[in-house]
Amino acid sequence: MKLLIKGGTLVDDAGEYRQDLLIMQGKIVRRAPQIVADESMGVIDARELLVMPGGIDVHTHFNIDVGIAQSCDDFFAGTRAAACGGTTTIIDHMGFGPAGCSLHHQLEKYHRDAARAVIDYSFHGVIQHVNPQILEEIAPMVQKEGISSFKFYLTYSYMLQDSDVLQVLQQLNEAGALATVHPENDAAIRWRTAQLKQQNKTAPVWHAHSRPLACEAEAISRTINLARLADNAPLYIVHLSNGLGLDYVRMAKAAGQPVWAETCPQYLLLDMGRYLLPDGLKYILSPPLRPHSELDKLWVGIADGSIATLATDHCNFPWRQRQQMAAGDFTRCPNGMPGVENRLALLFSEGVMKGRISRSRFVSLTSTMPAKLFGLWPEKGSLLPGSDADLVLFDPRSQHIVHHTDLHDNGDYTPYEGFCCQGKPVMTLSRGEVVCREGRFTGKAGHGRFISRKPFVTGSHL
Ligand code: MN
Ligand code: MN
Repeated sequence: MKLLIKGGTLVDDAGEYRQDLLIMQGKIVRRAPQIVADESMGVIDARELLVMPGGIDVHTHFNIDVGIAQSCDDFFAGTRAAACGGTTTIIDHMGFGPAGCSLHHQLEKYHRDAARAVIDYSFHGVIQHVNPQILEEIAPMVQKEGISSFKFYLTYSYMLQDSDVLQVLQQLNEAGALATVHPENDAAIRWRTAQLKQQNKTAPVWHAHSRPLACEAEAISRTINLARLADNAPLYIVHLSNGLGLDYVRMAKAAGQPVWAETCPQYLLLDMGRYLLPDGLKYILSPPLRPHSELDKLWVGIADGSIATLATDHCNFPWRQRQQMAAGDFTRCPNGMPGVENRLALLFSEGVMKGRISRSRFVSLTSTMPAKLFGLWPEKGSLLPGSDADLVLFDPRSQHIVHHTDLHDNGDYTPYEGFCCQGKPVMTLSRGEVVCREGRFTGKAGHGRFISRKPFVTGSHL
């Protein structure tokens, strides 16, 4: 059956077009003004709607085991929520495996975990220790397994030392993989946390003080310089949360270094005042929410292009579980927040409808740049004939208030409760299948496919 999307306004990262889209066997096969419907076609009336490439969220943690806790959204519930928010592809950051495990160990686990996904997916590899075997395993992961990005951490139990980071950056660069980093200075966090604990400062607000923005900015500037030393290895900064870190990214970009930054809705919309609320534990994540002055700095980066992508870092631990585990001490609360279903509506409302960014820039941040950086383009993140019919239909006139009860995850809260959004995704298609319509999930478990990603290329298209 063919599907005709008729009367809408197509929006991609380059412009807007009054064109219809014809879909066959899960692909966009034609794009033209006024395609005439015939009886071989189902027709979707897209008048008054924007038709955009489906969202690509390149930072989720579904089914993650963080040692002290297991997140509540598996790949089924997580991708169901994603689909209902207009996202058609996710790239999940693998959690740490057992000490000393190979790269393939976690890949195999994640392939099993993701079997019930409802939209397409991939994974970022995780480098939790470095030795000759791990370094040798990187190239085959890129070439044979389609994993063309990896993450390392500069804090937490499996952090890498600078000597490891240099080797990893060089090896990833040679293998055609993009290095992604969680940048926070581990020594500074330990030092401050120990002092706070000694003073019995364990309420949620002290979480923000245990890892202030200088911890993050220092690690960003350090990693940028290590990447420069490692033959200008391409580097992607995840979850950027502050203006000083952004300034370091800007300096590197101005010098021609291949560096990109991602931020998340929580850093654009929420500030550390949240930790003072009675439910402050809901907002424990790392990096933490920042002083309000940082939000505007990030919005400038969103508008001027120095921030490349918007992801969520969706990592859902229910409010009930947080309270039980923390028992009054922020250091015992599992870190992370949900958000995969709210990303598009929040950026559209706060970015496009408030005049900060164009609709094309919205598509670039949420879909096209993620696809280009992570080896999915042009099959994903574009409206080109031949690409996957992964689409979101957006009603820019519809207004709604965010309530957790309307969301499709397995958790018990949203940090955006009560937010008023202008504009809303009203239909999501994954390879031509309608997976969500008017807030109702219509997809099915296992429809999602693992996408073998292309190697990273530093090219003019970036
Ligand atoms: Mn992180
Ligand atoms: Mn993360």
